Order: sequence, then structure tokens, then C-alpha cells
Amino acid sequence: MDFTLRLLSWYKENKRDLPWRNTSNPYYIWLSEIILQQTRVEQGLPYYHSFVTAFPTLKDLATATEDKVLKLWQGLGYYSRARNLHAAAKTIYFDCNNEFPQNYNDIIKLKGVGPYTAAAIASFAFKEPVAVVDGNVFRVLSRYFGMYEDIAVAKNRNIFQNLANELISKKHPDLFNHAIMDFGATICTPANPKCNSCPFNDNCFAFLKNDITSLPVKTKKIKVKDRFLNYMILQSENEVALQQRTDKDIWQHLYEFPLMETTSLIEENVFEQLSQMYPASTIIKLTKQPIKHKLSHQQLHIDFYLIHTTEFPESLEITRIDELHQFAFPIVIWNFIKDFFKLDKF
Ligand code: SF4
Repeated sequence: MDFTLRLLSWYKENKRDLPWRNTSNPYYIWLSEIILQQTRVEQGLPYYHSFVTAFPTLKDLATATEDKVLKLWQGLGYYSRARNLHAAAKTIYFDCNNEFPQNYNDIIKLKGVGPYTAAAIASFAFKEPVAVVDGNVFRVLSRYFGMYEDIAVAKNRNIFQNLANELISKKHPDLFNHAIMDFGATICTPANPKCNSCPFNDNCFAFLKNDITSLPVKTKKIKVKDRFLNYMILQSENEVALQQRTDKDIWQHLYEFPLMETTSLIEENVFEQLSQMYPASTIIKLTKQPIKHKLSHQQLHIDFYLIHTTEFPESLEITRIDELHQFAFPIVIWNFIKDFFKLDKF
């Protein structure tokens, strides 16, 4: 028996009885799908009942005040969902003659509706064979078929979507979508899937290869850290002060001007601190906007300040401006130096 038939027969025996599964009214299905985004079924259920009671028809929702909608939503979080739901209800009621869009391509145009929700409404209400693809579906398909494509990469998601669209029952697309989600939520769970009682275990790639924990493949997003670097060009006649970077950090062993790193871009604070450090000096900010420089894990925001001084701190290395080219600088600093000191020939 193939994947689709087995899944449908599993669902027949194991379906969860939820109120929005006993209706083909697109308005109720839409409500339930928006409420259930980022929300567990048990948490969303009372909200679904309150909304259906307070706004039994789409007209009731469209003509309600936003305050009333938000009040009912209170405690569910992600309030943009409620505002989008209300805005879309108004669009349908006032601009579309109260006619709910009847296919995936039109449903996805509604505010707050993405591919998953559009597929759910189109298949549950109108039996359009478009597959829902969420975390449950990635997990089930990747394990059963042995798919190692990284689901954190947007273009790989299409591979799963295309496969799910091929697998979906053309006769019962609604049941297929309910089934695969329920199966992922209750049997093929992220941790400790119930493989021993799973109806697919004689044919499941991950189970047979004993590689369940590797699937689905999802790399972590690299978190980019913002850093704010304020460089002080201490200048006395034709000499400036430099320092070498020694810490285990970016640009280790390269040269730079004396640095003050701050946690944000607050210019006044930088000026205040520089004035205290160099009370008798003129301080000029050279960059109108911070220069942005991106590294793999860091976004740098760099400002340069010119400080005319008569003597340099002892710890620094003093060099003539026309010898700056002999030092190795990070490229972003070197580009600034060339431009500011007119060192075009290097
Ligand atoms: S055998 Fe295990 S890993 Fe494979 S589909 Fe079933 S529950 Fe998921």
C-alpha cells in the first residue's frame, strides 16, 4: 500500500475530533487556522469558541470594532494576527461583496494568510489538492523518504512542497492534510517518535537506517551581532597614533586607531567620554553616518573622530602619516585612511 493510502487509513482510525473539522465553512476554518498559528490546540480551542460565539458570521467580525476583536484575543499573543484577521474580514465584506475567496491563489492574498494557511483553507473548505507544509510535514516526509535537504534553506522548502503536492489525495485532499498533521503531531514526533507502533515502519527510511535523530536537517540561523566601533585618530602635526589588535577577536594582529567600543550608537555619549579623555583637544567627528561593514557573524558600525593633540599616550605606536601604508589595517579602516589622508598612491 502506498504512503497516501496508508496515511488515510491510519487517519480513519485515529482522527482527532476538533470543532473546525466538522465544517466546510471557510470563515470558521480560517478563524481556526489563524488562532492556531503559533498556538497549541488546547490553548486555541477556547478562543475559537469565543470568536464563533461573538462573531458567528464574517459580517459580524467585519463590522465589529478593533477594540472588541483585540479584547477577545487577549492572552493569545502575536496580536498582529488579530489585526490582520479583522482587516481581511473587512476587505471580504466591504470590498468583495462578502464573498470568501474560493481558491488558494485568491485566499493567499488575504492579509495575514501565508502558504500554509491558504493551503489549509483551500483544501478543507474547497477540497483543492494543495498540501499543507509545516514542521510536522517536514519531519514526516524527511524521515519516511530519507530527505536530507536543509529545511532552514528557503529553496529546499519547495522540494517538500512539491513532494507533498504529488502525494496529496486528489479525492480527499482535506483528509490527507488533516492526516499528515495529526500523524506528525502524535506519532512521528520530534523526540521519541512511536516507531514501533507506526504503520510505516516497514518502509520508513529513517527507521530502517536508524537515522531518525538526524532528520529533518535544520541548520541554526546565524545570529548577527551588532558592534559599534568609535575610532580616535589622535593627530599631532604629521603624526598619528596606532595600536595593534591583540585580543582573540576579529582582526587579530592588525592595526587600528585607538578604539572606544560602545554598546549602541549614541553619539552624545561618545563625545562626552572623548572630551573627558582629551579635555584640551578639539574633537571633530569625521563620519556623518557610521560606516557599515559586515562580517560573517557581525555587523560593524564604525565612526571616526579626529582629535588634535600635543602629546600621545605612551602605550601607543606613533607613526608619520605618509608611513601609514606600511601597517596592515582591516580593509574598512585602510579605505578610510586612504580617503581621509589622501594617500591615493598606495
Ligand atoms: S517509523 Fe518512526 S520515523 Fe518513520 S515515519 Fe514512523 S514514526 Fe516516523
